[in-house]
Amino acid sequence: MKEKFIVLGSGESGVGTSILAQKIGYDVFVSDSGKIGVEAKKIFKKYSIRWEENIHNLSKILEADLVMKSPGIPDKNDVVKKVREAKIPIISEIEFASKNTNAKMIGITGSNGKTTTALLVYELLKKANYNVGIAGNIGYSFAKQVAEKDCDIFVIEISSFQLDDIYSFSPDIALITNISSDHLERYNNDFNQYLNAKLKIAMNQSESNFIVFNSDDEILTDAIKKSNFKSRCFEFGFKSKIQGTFFKRNKIISNYKNSSYMVNTNEFKLMGRHNLLNAMAAVSVGKLLKLSKKSIQDSLINFKSIEHRLEKVLKIQNITYINDSKATNVNAAFFALDSMINQTVWIVGGIDKGNNYDQLLPLVREKVKAIVCLGIDNSKIINKFSPIVDNIIETQSMQEAVKISEKIAEKKEFVLLSPACASYDLFKNYIDRGNQFKQAVRNL
Ligand code: ADP
Repeated sequence: MKEKFIVLGSGESGVGTSILAQKIGYDVFVSDSGKIGVEAKKIFKKYSIRWEENIHNLSKILEADLVMKSPGIPDKNDVVKKVREAKIPIISEIEFASKNTNAKMIGITGSNGKTTTALLVYELLKKANYNVGIAGNIGYSFAKQVAEKDCDIFVIEISSFQLDDIYSFSPDIALITNISSDHLERYNNDFNQYLNAKLKIAMNQSESNFIVFNSDDEILTDAIKKSNFKSRCFEFGFKSKIQGTFFKRNKIISNYKNSSYMVNTNEFKLMGRHNLLNAMAAVSVGKLLKLSKKSIQDSLINFKSIEHRLEKVLKIQNITYINDSKATNVNAAFFALDSMINQTVWIVGGIDKGNNYDQLLPLVREKVKAIVCLGIDNSKIINKFSPIVDNIIETQSMQEAVKISEKIAEKKEFVLLSPACASYDLFKNYIDRGNQFKQAVRNL
């Protein structure tokens, strides 16, 4: 008899897991308490995978030998609780996929910069002729790729939710970009719980593995130093180091054992200090994998900005419009404002995730000439910034926000959408918000 594998949730990781489980020979059943999308249904049909939607049939679920929980489903969900009470093992997509591939794995986590860093590392490896796959926010799920097109090496972007049900997952290189407050609601508003969730990426590593991390982030560095990880540390950050990767006079320098790289960043197209950190992270991986300096240099130079992440949209009458819709927390907005080299009209707001705006005050004082609030409830932003910014306007549509910004901005100045908040009050998601911004700019 085949073992019963229940997949909870039919998003990208649920679909990927079900394909892989079916291929391996499990009796697979997908259960989603919401509606299942048309594309997912087509895939289930193709692979003869059974499913149910708008309901969880508990008695069926409790017959499972193994359950995969999609990362979007919280632990406090009733069905998840019942599965745990019944002592049925719950596995995550990343764990399951990693058990079924012999590929090398580079796991990337952190509060911000995961997608950018993962893409940088992916491009580096592609340039060096690796048979490489990328999994996570961009591209398909890890499990789907293992099922359909296994590679020699995978770059896997991993959110803290995806690390929740990890038992043995052990990437050859674990990379942590930074840790700042985000998604704390999922961790009982406890920063330490969130930090520990991220650190799980390294907990099963062995002495032959590496943990690459941002040593400018003191909290992260301290936590790693205090941990009992077996893996070897490799640091990156602006301060110079004997071993590790750092930045000096426009060059990224990476030292490991007795060899050293120097990568010129003069032609690097991404804006901002945070992107230099992301590049340093990627160069660190390149160094540890002994890629040639030339392939690293070439791929960094050719790397263009990613949609919705400090993306330059247009320059109209010498005013530059920048779409940073993916900035859904304060730290990302901090680096966006830090990257502005002239006075800026800042479009901000949405659903506040318990934001503390204090760290933005000096930058806002220095660079922001007006704030255009774009959210249903803007009171927190108004209260925080009205003592230092005279011109604060409330709007509730992107068209209106962009039109007002255009009126305020003058030649050589910037209009920056970097909301520091989630988008669900007025938009479907950050992509919809960014697309509406770009359309409104093009309509000017
Ligand atoms: P993630 O995948 O972790 O959400 P992204 O690369 O998609 O990260 O970037 C999300 C937001 O964070 C964007 O606004 C981007 O400009 C900003 N960002 C990118 N890298 C960093 C970093 N190293 N530190 C802080 N913010 C960053």
